[in-house]
Amino acid sequence: MEGYLSTLGTDALRDVPGLDDYDVVVVGGGPAGIAASTTAAELGHKTLLIERLAYPGGAAVSGMSGTICGLFLTAEEPAMAQPQQIVFGFAERFRAALEERKGVTRPQIYGKSWVVTHDCASYKRAATDLVRGAGVDALYHTQMIDVIVEDDALAGLVLHTKSGFTRVGARRVIDASGDADAVFKMGLHTTKGNNGVIQNPTMMFKMGNVDVQRYLDYWGEDTISPPKVVAILEARDELVRKKVWLFPTVNPGEVLVNATKIVGFDGRALDVTDPVDHTEAEQFAIYQARAFFDFLKEEIPGCEDAYFIDYGAEVGVRQTRSIDGIARLMNADVVETRKHPDAIARSSWPIELHYGAKPRTEWLVDDYYEVPFATLVPKEGRNVIVAGRCLSAEHEALASCRVTAQCFEYGRAAALATDLSLRENLAFQEIDGVEIAARMKAGGGL
Ligand SMILES: Cc1cc2nc3c(=O)[nH]c(=O)nc-3n(C[C@H](O)[C@H](O)[C@H](O)COP(=O)(O)OP(=O)(O)OC[C@H]3O[C@@H](n4cnc5c(N)ncnc54)[C@H](O)[C@@H]3O)c2cc1C
Repeated sequence: MEGYLSTLGTDALRDVPGLDDYDVVVVGGGPAGIAASTTAAELGHKTLLIERLAYPGGAAVSGMSGTICGLFLTAEEPAMAQPQQIVFGFAERFRAALEERKGVTRPQIYGKSWVVTHDCASYKRAATDLVRGAGVDALYHTQMIDVIVEDDALAGLVLHTKSGFTRVGARRVIDASGDADAVFKMGLHTTKGNNGVIQNPTMMFKMGNVDVQRYLDYWGEDTISPPKVVAILEARDELVRKKVWLFPTVNPGEVLVNATKIVGFDGRALDVTDPVDHTEAEQFAIYQARAFFDFLKEEIPGCEDAYFIDYGAEVGVRQTRSIDGIARLMNADVVETRKHPDAIARSSWPIELHYGAKPRTEWLVDDYYEVPFATLVPKEGRNVIVAGRCLSAEHEALASCRVTAQCFEYGRAAALATDLSLRENLAFQEIDGVEIAARMKAGGGL
């Protein structure tokens, strides 16, 4: 990427005023960062959570991604089966916290699986309660913009706030930025999608005043568009995506819509780590979302009198940088449902690849794969571990393992590893993943 200075350099940072030092600094308050910071603080570590937005939630709230995927085992015919939950741990703790606040639906069918749809306001509240309850210090409206590295060890972070630059010392950093920002700034190797081409972002939106029963009678129980809707989408050139999904929420008459495919105005794939592309994504999304809303009003019974509630606060980003980890989750690990001795999470979620006209979905029926701990650990660089969608994974494997239930578990695993690293003075690369897997099991994860 040309035209941007990727790092300030340690000399320039010497005189930047500093905050207190922390045992653990978590960059990013998405599902992975919520789980990582809460768990680290509950284990007794002085923990700081840094978030560039105004609340924890990440793409699940700012991108209105809307549902917790990845909790259940897939089934050949979900309409004839009961959902079988296979992920517990922090993911279940968070789901239960949402349920307590009446902020989550019962399982809804999604192809050969199920999801639970959350209300974003309840999500923010549940996340805030957890983070505050654990005693995490949080700094919102604060962006990590650089790293302080001594030899190959991450020693602190440079932050940008409304009042200027500051820095914070950290014994360990959990990079839950989704974009591997800290790892990237350290100059460690990262990759992007399929030779640089990443999955399309999506601008989610919500509509109100839907006659939900009439729309369900027409659409069916499956939240994925039925063939008759796909046929209408295919006949309308202005709609660049030909398979969409709709989720009734906990609020009467409200439906969450995952329909857009965000590209440039000239149709090119965008790289949202480039601010020019990111801005174009946000602008294109405004028009695309309205086009899909118009389509739903015109074509789908029950939606005639709907109104447009709002867009997500920003386009939802599925993929940017992935780290080069000690282990890499391979496409074959997913399709062959491989298990690993250092497993930190199970997943039966399909490869849901947002690429081309229709998202491609490859199901793993009645089985699951496991994600190894070592996918969170960069091959090089000390004191940093990642959690969330920037873990080390091949392109299509990431299209499965990036969903929310698993991201919660990556966050918990990263915090358990950080605890061990601090208590036993171990580099992350020296940690025995089998021990983390055992701690995950003991905490009810697997
Ligand atoms: C459109 C869309 C729909 C989706 N639908 C679903 C779905 O229905 N169900 C599901 O389970 N999953 C869904 N996903 C996937 C899921 O939302 C994400 O994979 C998940 O949120 C990733 O969690 P994360 O914690 O790794 O990262 P994110 O959620 O991306 O969170 C990263 C956080 O870090 C913050 N941040 C980033 N950089 C910095 C920095 N330098 N300094 C400070 N803060 C920073 C960001 O503001 C953000 O809050 C969807 C994703 C998209 C994009």
